[in-house]
Amino acid sequence: MNNANVVIVGAGHAGVQTAASLREMGHDGRILLIGDEPDRPYHRPPLSKSFIASPDADLDPLRSEEFFANNDIDLRLGVRARNLDPSTQRLDLDSGEKVHFDHLILALGSRNRTVPIEGAALDGVAGLRTAQDARSVRERLGNAQHVVVIGGGFIGMEFAAAAAAMGRTVTIFEAAPRTMARAVSPDTSAYLEGTHTAEGVSIQSGATVARIEGLGGAVSAVITGDDRHIPADLVLVGVGALPNTALAESAGIATGAQGSDGILVDDHLRTNHTAISAIGDCARFPAGPTFRRLESVQNAVDQARCVAARITGSPEPYQRVPWFWSHQGKVKLQIAGLAAGVDRSVVRGDLSSGRFSIFGYRGADLVTVESINKPGDHMAARRILESRGSLLPEQAANPEFSLKEVGPATTHSSAR
Ligand SMILES: Cc1cc2nc3c(=O)[nH]c(=O)nc-3n(C[C@H](O)[C@H](O)[C@H](O)COP(=O)(O)OP(=O)(O)OC[C@H]3O[C@@H](n4cnc5c(N)ncnc54)[C@H](O)[C@@H]3O)c2cc1C
Repeated sequence: MNNANVVIVGAGHAGVQTAASLREMGHDGRILLIGDEPDRPYHRPPLSKSFIASPDADLDPLRSEEFFANNDIDLRLGVRARNLDPSTQRLDLDSGEKVHFDHLILALGSRNRTVPIEGAALDGVAGLRTAQDARSVRERLGNAQHVVVIGGGFIGMEFAAAAAAMGRTVTIFEAAPRTMARAVSPDTSAYLEGTHTAEGVSIQSGATVARIEGLGGAVSAVITGDDRHIPADLVLVGVGALPNTALAESAGIATGAQGSDGILVDDHLRTNHTAISAIGDCARFPAGPTFRRLESVQNAVDQARCVAARITGSPEPYQRVPWFWSHQGKVKLQIAGLAAGVDRSVVRGDLSSGRFSIFGYRGADLVTVESINKPGDHMAARRILESRGSLLPEQAANPEFSLKEVGPATTHSSAR
């Protein structure tokens, strides 16, 4: 049905890509794209990197101003979808408008987890997700001297690097024994921690913040679990994200446990209501014998293309190898695949050179490659993982062995 009425909720990476891909793939029907943020759709990754580091940086738009009008995409900004009725295929907007859909795409993204500790609501304690968040954190950072980051994940580490480069005193508190533990190998964590420490960041792993103290309503210090007093005039909370599922849940659409795991979809990214799909950060999709939810631009964009292809008559199951990137000061980290279940790692290159890759195996299967300042290895790794290429650990570890030579495997022992 190429003239179907498509409504997309969420004008972030996934929502905008869905609209663009629908038009590229020949969709003739109406496209209504609804986003609750006031800003024209923008790239989110720079918010914890270049945007925060420069007082004059502008948002990086996902598409030009003319793109939406030129492609007949009805973009509504600052409008929230507040109620969904799957049986009548109707959506209520907070503007009072009611819209009918043939296909509804939920591209709702995720929201920051908060820390349930005393003082978390003080002025100067902030998360970083939207352009609004980033503007207010940037302004605060301009006048701050002592910055505390709670959580040594992607956003916390990126923000810490930017703040340290601006001459701020930065301390990261990470409850786990090492930073970025869920996403990267111990070697990569150690390398990143080394580069941050060299830039003056204090990394306190295995340490918690028990409460936050304020003066006149504004943050003044954090008190650690072992009762240390750390001065702070800005506290950045980067303890992960939760998928936005409330709109789906209240409409009876299946989600994981209490919605915290995301909106459940099948391998074609359809929810349990076939006219309604979910993609990007908010979706929990099948991956081999299990389900997973990912927070990355690649996942949002590729899932958008997958849904657009189905709506325009070329359905294919969603099966892409995930990849990610993170810029932390001078370090460019790129990851292909997922680190879960890795039982053997080999290093290609020299850890001390600041240019190397770590190849992670589960049994005989290569499942992930982390590249530090080695974009060529990353691109090769994506190709090898996509084609299920056969690369032995000793070949991976040998810098003389060309990754370009790796061809598809003839057999494979387990699903990725
Ligand atoms: C600071 C930061 C840095 C990041 N850096 C990287 C990086 O370096 N590399 C990488 O791969 N990924 C990065 N990510 C993750 C990446 O940005 C997300 O995975 C990606 O934005 C997901 O796209 P999405 O469209 O699913 O969600 P989003 O881009 O979050 O868009 C969802 C939109 O839906 C809106 N919305 C929600 N509910 C409603 C409603 N009811 N009505 C209307 N609108 C609604 C939200 O407000 C939001 O605008 C970063 C994220 C953040 C926050």
